[in-house]
Amino acid sequence: MAEETLFTKIINRELPADIIYEDEHCIAINDIAPKAPTHLLVIPKKPIPRLVDATDEDAALLGHLMLAASKIARQAGVEDAFRLIVNNGAEVGQTVFHLHLHILAGKKFSESQLGF
Ligand code: AMP
Repeated sequence: MAEETLFTKIINRELPADIIYEDEHCIAINDIAPKAPTHLLVIPKKPIPRLVDATDEDAALLGHLMLAASKIARQAGVEDAFRLIVNNGAEVGQTVFHLHLHILAGKKFSESQLGF
Protein backbone atom coordinates (compact mmCIF):
# COMPACT_ATOMS: atom_id res chain seq x y z
CA MET A 1 0.00 0.00 0.00
CA ALA A 2 1.22 3.50 -0.79
CA GLU A 3 2.65 5.42 2.15
CA GLU A 4 0.25 7.90 3.76
CA THR A 5 0.85 11.49 2.75
CA LEU A 6 1.56 14.21 5.30
CA PHE A 7 -1.95 15.53 4.75
CA THR A 8 -3.55 12.08 5.19
CA LYS A 9 -1.74 11.88 8.54
CA ILE A 10 -3.22 15.28 9.46
CA ILE A 11 -6.70 14.16 8.31
CA ASN A 12 -6.35 10.99 10.42
CA ARG A 13 -5.13 13.02 13.43
CA GLU A 14 -1.81 11.17 13.38
CA LEU A 15 -0.06 14.54 13.10
CA PRO A 16 -1.17 17.78 14.75
CA ALA A 17 -2.47 20.70 12.70
CA ASP A 18 -4.77 23.63 13.08
CA ILE A 19 -7.92 22.17 11.46
CA ILE A 20 -10.34 25.06 10.92
CA TYR A 21 -12.95 23.26 8.76
CA GLU A 22 -13.99 19.69 8.07
CA ASP A 23 -16.75 18.01 6.13
CA GLU A 24 -17.27 14.58 4.60
CA HIS A 25 -14.86 15.17 1.72
CA CYS A 26 -12.23 17.68 2.83
CA ILE A 27 -10.53 19.57 5.61
CA ALA A 28 -8.98 23.03 5.80
CA ILE A 29 -5.95 23.92 7.89
CA ASN A 30 -3.82 26.96 8.57
CA ASP A 31 -0.61 26.74 6.54
CA ILE A 32 2.36 26.13 8.84
CA ALA A 33 4.52 28.66 6.93
CA PRO A 34 2.03 31.34 5.86
CA LYS A 35 2.85 33.42 2.77
CA ALA A 36 0.08 35.92 3.57
CA PRO A 37 -1.80 37.04 6.70
CA THR A 38 -4.46 34.46 5.80
CA HIS A 39 -3.04 31.30 4.27
CA LEU A 40 -5.30 28.27 4.39
CA LEU A 41 -5.10 24.90 2.68
CA VAL A 42 -8.19 23.04 1.49
CA ILE A 43 -7.36 19.34 1.28
CA PRO A 44 -9.52 16.52 -0.07
CA LYS A 45 -9.67 13.40 2.09
CA LYS A 46 -8.99 11.41 -1.07
CA PRO A 47 -5.20 11.56 -1.60
CA ILE A 48 -5.00 12.60 -5.26
CA PRO A 49 -1.28 13.40 -5.74
CA ARG A 50 -1.58 16.23 -8.30
CA LEU A 51 -4.45 17.97 -10.06
CA VAL A 52 -3.53 16.16 -13.29
CA ASP A 53 -4.03 12.84 -11.52
CA ALA A 54 -7.71 13.64 -10.97
CA THR A 55 -10.09 11.83 -13.32
CA ASP A 56 -13.66 12.28 -14.49
CA GLU A 57 -14.66 10.30 -11.39
CA ASP A 58 -13.34 13.18 -9.30
CA ALA A 59 -15.47 15.86 -10.98
CA ALA A 60 -17.91 16.17 -8.08
CA LEU A 61 -15.06 16.21 -5.56
CA LEU A 62 -13.24 18.99 -7.45
CA GLY A 63 -16.44 21.03 -7.53
CA HIS A 64 -16.90 20.38 -3.84
CA LEU A 65 -13.40 21.69 -3.10
CA MET A 66 -14.12 24.95 -4.92
CA LEU A 67 -17.36 25.44 -3.03
CA ALA A 68 -15.69 24.50 0.25
CA ALA A 69 -12.93 27.05 -0.49
CA SER A 70 -15.58 29.70 -0.95
CA LYS A 71 -17.29 28.77 2.35
CA ILE A 72 -13.95 28.67 4.17
CA ALA A 73 -12.94 32.07 2.76
CA ARG A 74 -16.25 33.44 4.00
CA GLN A 75 -15.74 31.80 7.40
CA ALA A 76 -12.28 33.43 7.56
CA GLY A 77 -13.80 36.81 6.65
CA VAL A 78 -11.82 37.20 3.43
CA GLU A 79 -14.60 36.48 0.91
CA ASP A 80 -14.16 39.82 -0.88
CA ALA A 81 -10.49 39.37 -1.74
CA PHE A 82 -8.58 36.12 -1.85
CA ARG A 83 -6.43 34.20 -4.27
CA LEU A 84 -6.85 30.46 -4.89
CA ILE A 85 -3.77 28.54 -6.03
CA VAL A 86 -3.02 24.94 -6.93
CA ASN A 87 0.60 23.99 -7.53
CA ASN A 88 0.90 21.05 -9.90
CA GLY A 89 4.44 19.66 -9.98
CA ALA A 90 7.68 20.30 -8.12
CA GLU A 91 8.90 22.75 -10.76
CA VAL A 92 6.17 25.23 -9.84
CA GLY A 93 6.58 24.68 -6.12
CA GLN A 94 4.48 21.66 -5.20
CA THR A 95 6.09 20.11 -2.14
CA VAL A 96 3.26 17.95 -0.78
CA PHE A 97 1.97 15.44 -3.31
CA HIS A 98 -1.60 15.35 -2.03
CA LEU A 99 -3.81 17.79 -3.91
CA HIS A 100 -4.59 21.01 -2.03
CA LEU A 101 -5.93 24.48 -2.73
CA HIS A 102 -4.13 27.44 -1.20
CA ILE A 103 -6.38 30.30 -0.06
CA LEU A 104 -4.28 33.45 0.31
CA ALA A 105 -5.57 36.79 1.52
CA GLY A 106 -4.77 39.89 3.50
CA LYS A 107 -1.97 41.30 1.40
CA LYS A 108 -1.62 43.05 -1.92
CA PHE A 109 -0.77 40.69 -4.76
CA SER A 110 0.80 41.97 -7.94
CA GLU A 111 -1.63 41.86 -10.84
CA SER A 112 0.94 40.74 -13.35
CA GLN A 113 2.46 37.87 -11.40
CA LEU A 114 0.47 34.89 -10.30
CA GLY A 115 1.91 33.33 -7.19
CA PHE A 116 2.56 33.86 -3.52
P1 AMP B 1 2.72 23.15 -1.99
O1 AMP B 1 4.07 23.79 -1.95
O2 AMP B 1 1.76 23.74 -2.97
O3 AMP B 1 2.82 21.64 -2.09
O4 AMP B 1 2.07 23.47 -0.57
C1 AMP B 1 2.34 22.74 0.58
C2 AMP B 1 2.05 23.65 1.71
O5 AMP B 1 1.92 22.86 2.89
C3 AMP B 1 3.15 24.68 2.00
O6 AMP B 1 2.61 26.00 1.90
C4 AMP B 1 3.62 24.33 3.41
O7 AMP B 1 3.95 25.48 4.17
C5 AMP B 1 2.41 23.61 3.96
N1 AMP B 1 2.71 22.64 5.03
C6 AMP B 1 3.69 21.73 5.06
N2 AMP B 1 3.61 21.00 6.20
C7 AMP B 1 2.55 21.47 6.88
C8 AMP B 1 1.94 21.14 8.14
N3 AMP B 1 2.44 20.17 8.92
N4 AMP B 1 0.86 21.85 8.55
C9 AMP B 1 0.36 22.85 7.77
N5 AMP B 1 0.87 23.20 6.56
C10 AMP B 1 1.96 22.53 6.14
